[in-house]
Amino acid sequence: MPAVTESIAAAAEVTGCLTKMAIAPGQGGEPARYTLRAGASRLDLNERLGKPLSLAWGGAIACAHCGRATRKSFAQGYCYPCFKTLAQCDTCIMKPETCHFFAGTCREPEWAERHCFQPHVVYLANASGLKVGITRATQVPTRWLDQGAVQALPIFAVDTRQQSGFVETLFKEAVSDRTNWRAMLKGEAAELDLPAERDRLLARLEGGIARLQERFGADAIRPLDEAPVRLSYPVLEYPTKVVSHNLDKTPEVGGTLLGLKGQYLILDTGVVNLRKYTGYEVRVVA
Ligand SMILES: [Zn+2]
Repeated sequence: MPAVTESIAAAAEVTGCLTKMAIAPGQGGEPARYTLRAGASRLDLNERLGKPLSLAWGGAIACAHCGRATRKSFAQGYCYPCFKTLAQCDTCIMKPETCHFFAGTCREPEWAERHCFQPHVVYLANASGLKVGITRATQVPTRWLDQGAVQALPIFAVDTRQQSGFVETLFKEAVSDRTNWRAMLKGEAAELDLPAERDRLLARLEGGIARLQERFGADAIRPLDEAPVRLSYPVLEYPTKVVSHNLDKTPEVGGTLLGLKGQYLILDTGVVNLRKYTGYEVRVVA
């Protein structure tokens, strides 16, 4: 990798196609570190807090997979042909319990081997209240940071994405799988005792868990006894009312950068869900 660190600090203006922000957990209770990525350019956002930041989209979008120009972004960053043919854009990624690999209809069986038939984690998290979620084991803690969770606790390790979907489906009987992003952006979620929530849910869902372990083997669906993780975000001030900027309608937005949480920029003029604009070629002035 070429060293670009020196140009980063000096850069006040970058242009390129957006990918989701890189978020690194803070060390020793420090807030997470955010890096905006536009093409080959990188911008340290933590050091821009409290300063003006603007984004301007000229109308171009490049597909996050094939790089071709697309007039519209599908599934947060793909052209229509990729959206219709990539396994990662199939509905079973969002609903892993509907995996159809064994029916022989997987869009890309080799991709599935590398991504779906890999260790997954079922977790509890708190971004706007208690929720259950799943992720590939390698995506911990990135997934939690992307969601703006302030607490997280892995509760099961499983062998495949589909198995994680079955466990999550079971937990959805008792707990939400959604984040209320407006609540997440309005402040810190009230502290939860995640190990106690885990134990309460395990007791309630005991029968269903035993059935899944019978089906897949007890060593495929393994309860975890880990310590909860705490995450914090660089936010100077939370908005009292959450107004969302939409680059499709207003291609130029700007304001003072008040914070970073999940994949959101919090400006004094409104919030921007940067992930939604993956592939958009923007000029960022900060
Ligand atoms: Zn494409």
